[in-house]
Amino acid sequence: MKERAGLYIHFPFCAAKCPYCHFYSQPWNEASYRTWRQGLGREAAAPREAGFEFDTLYLGGGTPSLLGPDEVVWVRELAQAHFPLKIEEFTLEANPGASGTDIFGGWREAGVTRLSVGVQSFDDAVLRTLGRPCTAEEALSFCRAGRAAGFEVLAIDLMIGVPGETPAAVERSLDTALGLEPDHVSVYILENVEGLPFEEVLVRHPVDEDAVVDAYDRTRDALDAAGLRQYEISNFARPGKECRHNLKYWRYEPFVGLGPSAGSHLPGRRWRNKTSLDDWSRALSRGETAREDVVELSPVKAVREALIFGLRLVEGVDLGAFTERFKVDVRALFGREIDELVDEGLLVCEAGRISIPRSGFLTSNAVLSRFA
Ligand code: SF4
Repeated sequence: MKERAGLYIHFPFCAAKCPYCHFYSQPWNEASYRTWRQGLGREAAAPREAGFEFDTLYLGGGTPSLLGPDEVVWVRELAQAHFPLKIEEFTLEANPGASGTDIFGGWREAGVTRLSVGVQSFDDAVLRTLGRPCTAEEALSFCRAGRAAGFEVLAIDLMIGVPGETPAAVERSLDTALGLEPDHVSVYILENVEGLPFEEVLVRHPVDEDAVVDAYDRTRDALDAAGLRQYEISNFARPGKECRHNLKYWRYEPFVGLGPSAGSHLPGRRWRNKTSLDDWSRALSRGETAREDVVELSPVKAVREALIFGLRLVEGVDLGAFTERFKVDVRALFGREIDELVDEGLLVCEAGRISIPRSGFLTSNAVLSRFA
């Protein structure tokens, strides 16, 4: 039987660049869009590793909601023409304000099953601080229209740890999100990434770490109470509505990424595509590979990485299954670290499965670094 895999396609354009964003994206223009489309056609048709059956398609970015339904159909059909793809989940990442509210039915007809909206906050002051191009009211109408269109999953991304964000603003934003009855909510803590324009804001207005922990805990409890079960450090879903594509990343399962900067991981190897649109498309137009940073994964390296990803999940990692899968005795390799972490109360070991207790998720880096 062929191994299941996920297919990711990176759309590298946004209406404007948010000052805190570290994803590869640039303001949309027609000429660059044509370059992307041509490059994607070439990359999808290029020879590649066989033996996989793809069941999730994830159109991420950037802001793929800048694409109209016809263009989404083009992407899907391109993927289906070149990959053995039986779509069980098709995610479209969206940003409010990037399109009108009459486009949702078209995306659904194009096959999208999961609409993932990067809201960040339903509070105008927070949106202004983040430099987001829409208001809370616009974000709300966008999500309402998405909800009404009947996608199998409406996912909402929220952000905490924004300078000036008050506990009341976090609570209001969350209440508004829950009022939309989302199937999935992601809660990210704003990161200070060196070199981004937002770094200056964070230097001038440092965020109180205790307040962030408090906001995270309260958000998690409220989501739990609303029936959105935590399944990963930053992700919550109604039962059965977890993101199947993203679970492949955390479970260290195979996926292929197309588009500039997209990452891929197949058994024994992972790589990243050239980051800039021009470098990526130039390589493909010359018939060369767009891959770079290719890392060969020895079984020991693979186990290490799989542990680091797997421990982000509430379900944790089944040590016996890992030993069988990677043909490496995980206990022999990391037994000392595991025992120490269990003694320190940072890891739970039950029935051959290790996991980080949910109360320790925000300090999980201290645990994960012990396996690095
Ligand atoms: S809309 Fe999203 S992907 Fe685009 S710049 Fe803003 S945060 Fe980044």
